[in-house]
Amino acid sequence: MKYYIKTFGCQMNVSDSERIAGFLEKPHLNPMPTGRQALLGKERRLFVPTKDINEADLVIFNTCGVRQMAEDRVYGQIHNIRKQEERSKNKGKRRIIILTGCLADRKDVQRRLKDKVDLFIPIDKFFKIENLKLIENCKLKIENLTQKKQSCDYLNIAPNYTNNDSAYVPIMTGCNNFCAYCVVPYARGREISRPVGDILKEIKNLAKKDCKEIILLGQNVNSYRFIDKNSSLPAGRQAPLKPKKIDFPKLLDSLAQSFPKINFKFLTSHPKDFSEELMKVIAKNKNISREIHLPIQAGSDKILKAMNRPYTQKHYLDLIKKAQKIIPDASFTTDVIVGFPGETQKDFQESLKVFKKVNFNEAYINKYSPRPGTAAYKLGDPITLDEKKRREKVLRKLVKTR
Ligand code: SF4
Repeated sequence: MKYYIKTFGCQMNVSDSERIAGFLEKPHLNPMPTGRQALLGKERRLFVPTKDINEADLVIFNTCGVRQMAEDRVYGQIHNIRKQEERSKNKGKRRIIILTGCLADRKDVQRRLKDKVDLFIPIDKFFKIENLKLIENCKLKIENLTQKKQSCDYLNIAPNYTNNDSAYVPIMTGCNNFCAYCVVPYARGREISRPVGDILKEIKNLAKKDCKEIILLGQNVNSYRFIDKNSSLPAGRQAPLKPKKIDFPKLLDSLAQSFPKINFKFLTSHPKDFSEELMKVIAKNKNISREIHLPIQAGSDKILKAMNRPYTQKHYLDLIKKAQKIIPDASFTTDVIVGFPGETQKDFQESLKVFKKVNFNEAYINKYSPRPGTAAYKLGDPITLDEKKRREKVLRKLVKTR
């Protein structure tokens, strides 16, 4: 059976797709949490990848709900697949379509695509598919797969890395921040940090393969927090005396020290959690990237407040100044939204001001689009697309000219 994965959105989705590929191709190798190896072991190489969607028997859409455009592309492509099947002479062949990622749990999406998609399944439940033959026979029942308990066990599925020299390693999933425009806390749930031991195991495997760069991933990597109950076990004792709290600076420092031949990057950070301790860890370790991605999202304090981003322009600029002092060769990239409801010309000028001051190496400039289920959705979309495009162009010029 041939499969094809279409991935939309951020690096987390790319990393999740690598795990889906690993799951489908090498199920016998995967460290499933509850002893499912025996069952999966019978199904070696049930699936092989294809680069041609037309050849695939199984098509997986790993979706993104952050922007309307990405969502529309999913609808369009699924619609085209089904249309093409109807037109085809070989009418008996209907591909199995699975939809996972950010849109999988949205009821309006499920209603809209119910006749076209065979299975809607959130990413952390994807790997609960116990019998892959059920996919082949198209006999999956979603009720059996959607236990509500959130988990990050799936991150331990051995991935098929797209690039063995530069690999994504997720260290956490979900988000607690509820920025007013963002679907992530609804789509991925609350923050869960991956156990240190699991992260180390994955990185050790990559080091053996001579991996040169690792990008640590999470919706908000710098709020990583894990309590390691085994870390301070004295020899021969059964119970830990004092569990060790490991936050992101400690994790990053120990990874950089343990794997000196690997360069580390991390994505993405929230300004409220970007600590001086983290800056010092970066400064101390030459194998941590000096390019820091720090999303500003808006320059105006009024808009930041409306976005539920708990910092001000001054706090952001002070952080940049402090980072430049502690890490003299630091450079910065950012994310910014133009046209958030209520963003006046005066507010936009504040974003411009930040761009002029910071000298960003790169900026991901997003035109606001209201997302169902988010707090900002009820504010509508009062700023025209033309005006958003104009603001985007103004900011873009500032990044490009540097
Ligand atoms: S920090 Fe805000 S923008 Fe980033 S994932 Fe969390 S809610 Fe979304």
